[in-house]
Amino acid sequence: MRRKFVAGNWKMHGSMVENAALLNAVIAGMSQLNNVDCAVCVPYPYLAQAQNMLTGSNIMWGAQDVHQLEKGAYTGEVSAEMLKDFGCRYAIVGHSERRAIYGESNLIVAGKFAAAQNAKLVPILCVGETLDDREAGHTESVVAAQLDIVIEMCGVHALRNCVLAYEPVWAIGTGKTASPEQAQAVHAFIRNRVAGHDASVAERLIIQYGGSVKPSNAVELFSMPDIDGGLIGGAALVAEDFLAICRAG
Ligand code: PEP
Repeated sequence: MRRKFVAGNWKMHGSMVENAALLNAVIAGMSQLNNVDCAVCVPYPYLAQAQNMLTGSNIMWGAQDVHQLEKGAYTGEVSAEMLKDFGCRYAIVGHSERRAIYGESNLIVAGKFAAAQNAKLVPILCVGETLDDREAGHTESVVAAQLDIVIEMCGVHALRNCVLAYEPVWAIGTGKTASPEQAQAVHAFIRNRVAGHDASVAERLIIQYGGSVKPSNAVELFSMPDIDGGLIGGAALVAEDFLAICRAG
């Protein structure tokens, strides 16, 4: 049995004051829940605040990106070891905003995945197709390419220690959610593809869904057999919505 995992992706939102209120409310709400694993991925400057506030709670924390190299002259970048210094458990890699806005290729994302794992972080690897890809019937080939390069670079056993997030780009921040059946179809495709390499890795792999998850659609999405929780953007900024989504897990 896979345990559901709900993670918040705060993106470039928050302030010390806003975060304190949000985290206090999430800590209080999560203290009543033990049905899901829960994490928040916060902007880099707030990792220390997350570490201070969340240590001792049942909420883990992480970053929204990580650099693929260990150190060096890469102004503005943050390494996996630096994230470890702040107690991070997770680093999101390959979010569609990073791929689209910052031009991160499948190869770069695979490098980030490897760097996170080398530092004993758990990468949350985002995959997903654009609307054009879907309409052209390319959803599976796009997702397969995003996944396969990680398996080629790191080996299928690397997937024992990661989380996958299927996030159709057309559903992120748009209010358009993939239907539970549409999402399930891609989740099953991903799991089958991994099973082609190793059935036990596939069976244990946590595959989150992300894309306009809200309290009103979380139960339906999370009840699908291959959907193991969610990566939550906008709704993670509102404590009562985030907690309602966690409750749905
Ligand atoms: C995300 O940022 O990963 C995401 C899924 O955003 P939203 O929930 O706002 O669509």
